[in-house]
Amino acid sequence: MEADYALVMGGLDVAKRSVDQIVALMRVMYDFVLTAKNERSVSPLMSFLYLNLSQTLERIGELNVACRKGCSHCCHNWVAASAPEVIYALKYAEAAGLPVQDNLSSTLMLTGGRNSQTRIGMRAPCPLLDGDVCGVYENRPIVCRTLVSFDAGICERFYSQITKEPVPASAAYNAIRNVYALCLAGALKRAGLPPFFYEYNAALNNMAQVDDAEAAWLSGEDILEGVMLDDGGDMFCEAWNRDIYKKAFG
Ligand code: SF4
Ligand code: SF4
Repeated sequence: MEADYALVMGGLDVAKRSVDQIVALMRVMYDFVLTAKNERSVSPLMSFLYLNLSQTLERIGELNVACRKGCSHCCHNWVAASAPEVIYALKYAEAAGLPVQDNLSSTLMLTGGRNSQTRIGMRAPCPLLDGDVCGVYENRPIVCRTLVSFDAGICERFYSQITKEPVPASAAYNAIRNVYALCLAGALKRAGLPPFFYEYNAALNNMAQVDDAEAAWLSGEDILEGVMLDDGGDMFCEAWNRDIYKKAFG
């Protein structure tokens, strides 16, 4: 385990494309998931994950992305996140006094039951927006940190359906998103927890309806059962992902 921690501390060296690092990260995340289950709190897991992800993003040095706090064109679109990400964001939104329930009610009127395809062109504000600012910016999900653009003007036109010009995304950020999502999913799967990424609004709503959803989910209650999954569904349908999982846990 010490060797795994040593391999991932300070963030991944993406240029190396090291399978050993990815396997180590999955095992380290599993260690944090076990702590989360014991402590009935996702906080240690999520603070490690987001710090490590930030360090990895710093290491690639693509500083010219246009994304910044307060830019929210992409926050009216389909978002998917795992259960721990949802729990962590909701916890901070409620502590910050955001009117989550009211926001959820109005957003779900627009997005309820719609899949990613039928959401195209629809502007429905994320329930965690505070005006144009993410109300949980420091604790936002993996996808919100890594689905970046080099041109906010194109984002504005694209997400308003004014142009079909594709958003100029970062291939490096996309690759990093896939790695962190896979490692988190693998760690959850190994711990017997659902390793899925869910439609964000419905997932927030389900969690918000349950008293101490954090402890309940960590003890095995599948609060998000029936919530629509992200387009990829089960990540372990892909052979490469299964192979990484096998390398991590045998
Ligand atoms: S992806 Fe586009 S809309 Fe979203 S924060 Fe970045 S520049 Fe702004
Ligand atoms: S969590 Fe924050 S960054 Fe992510 S979609 Fe919602 S408001 Fe935007």
